[in-house]
Amino acid sequence: MPIDSNLLRVTVDLGAIQDNFRLLRSRGTGLIAVIKSDAYGHGLIPVAKALAESGADCFAVGTVAEATRLRPEVRGTVFALLGPQSSEEAREAVQRDIVPVAARHDQLTWLQTAADATKRRAAVALKFDTGMARLGFNHAEVDMVLETLAHCRDVEPRWLFSHLATADDPDQAEFVREQATRYLIVQARLQSGLTTAGILPRCSLTNSAGLLAYPELAWDRQRPGIALYGANPFHGTELEYLGRDLRPAMRVQAPVLAVHPLAKGASISYGRTFVADRDKTVAVVAAGYADAYSRGLSNKGWMLLRGQRVKVLGRVCMQMTAVDVSHVPGVAPGDMAVLLGPDEGDAITPEELSSWWGTIPYEVFCMLGMNPREYVASSEASQGDLDHARSDTSPSAWG
Ligand SMILES: *Cc1c(COP(=O)(O)O)cnc(C)c1O
Repeated sequence: MPIDSNLLRVTVDLGAIQDNFRLLRSRGTGLIAVIKSDAYGHGLIPVAKALAESGADCFAVGTVAEATRLRPEVRGTVFALLGPQSSEEAREAVQRDIVPVAARHDQLTWLQTAADATKRRAAVALKFDTGMARLGFNHAEVDMVLETLAHCRDVEPRWLFSHLATADDPDQAEFVREQATRYLIVQARLQSGLTTAGILPRCSLTNSAGLLAYPELAWDRQRPGIALYGANPFHGTELEYLGRDLRPAMRVQAPVLAVHPLAKGASISYGRTFVADRDKTVAVVAAGYADAYSRGLSNKGWMLLRGQRVKVLGRVCMQMTAVDVSHVPGVAPGDMAVLLGPDEGDAITPEELSSWWGTIPYEVFCMLGMNPREYVASSEASQGDLDHARSDTSPSAWG
């Protein structure tokens, strides 16, 4: 959370993340909790510990550096999805019991060198590209991978990963099936090529959407990310019901700095992009693009104040945004505006905020999550020890 010395505050409900984990686990066969990028802005270590309390035993982060941070905090398997970027990182992974993804031949070679140097075996998750065209060995090149592995005797391909490109779009189910078909071909070739070594990699293909919509592709493990944080991957589609019971975990608030009238015909904020069509009352909220509240929300976004929806007026500034509070009596400086999450019976959902923002909940979480965070646990089941979580809070915790 590199944004500091500001007034916007993020509250993360670890109980909601635990509830989402249990719900997803009940739909799958075994989860790899995806907590890369600081747990999608929710905080790597507090989220990992809350998940571990709920029984999570497999975690996936992005870089080897992030895995190194996580490793001493949890038991079980820690994956680094981006894989080692140097022989030093490969060695780091082997030494620290991190399972890196390997998507290139040089990474397998580095891992063998690291195994030689440390006298350990190097566990690895082989990543094959089956249609995302991002990371992974080409699905048609299994034989080459087997050949490289034959020269890397201490590298153990314990896992086979691939990643779906369209699982959240019911109109593109055909492409999911194409990817699954390619995956199964890779798996069969790999297994017949590896049987002499006695290793059968465990299989994982699905992300949140794949876990919810394609139970037949669950195989050994599923890798949910976004659904853990309570966004519904099927929002606005006919499959929306599949994610209906997920609970968003992030709440974002910022205080009102000033309340004043805006007369009919007067403009507000830079560039005069909003001119009042009648007498209004506006509140100036201490949130702007420096707090990762996107300037794209200018004249588009909504917040909640005293439980009422209030519209963004004019341009979002660096540290301030004006909202129309003409219909909300009693708004005063110090009131907390809710930018994301619940307030008095209403809620700004991640899907709503991201649609005004012109993006997806993933980006909203990653961006707003860079602000100072505090942790709460809403559900009965998770009123355990949250001291570990509080250590992630900025020292000036707010009330
Ligand atoms: C981020 C990621 C996931 C999780 O995807 P969601 O859509 O957030 O569930 C799973 N697998 C890989 C390889 C990823 O990079």
